[in-house]
Amino acid sequence: MAREERPAIVPEIICQEIVQWVSAYLDDHVGEDRKHQIAVHLPICAGCETYVKQIATVRDLVGALPQTVEQPFDLHRLRQAFRAKSRRPSSSD
Ligand SMILES: [Zn+2]
Repeated sequence: MAREERPAIVPEIICQEIVQWVSAYLDDHVGEDRKHQIAVHLPICAGCETYVKQIATVRDLVGALPQTVEQPFDLHRLRQAFRAKSRRPSSSD
């Protein structure tokens, strides 16, 4: 009996869809089905994998910018707030 090896069935998703959904995918705003489709597609499509990685990197950099600017102020305020809280004067304020 001859056995025919069938390729694993992969949900069809075209590269254009990856491009369309990459932002939502990185934001985790896609449904489980879509996420699975993308997760399955990326390892078999070097182009899309690279694309998603690039977008992720750019988003990381862009997302880090405002934080870097605001961090010193936030840290200072947080530290003050923390100190005020952890001191806990015995008298109620
Ligand atoms: Zn692709």
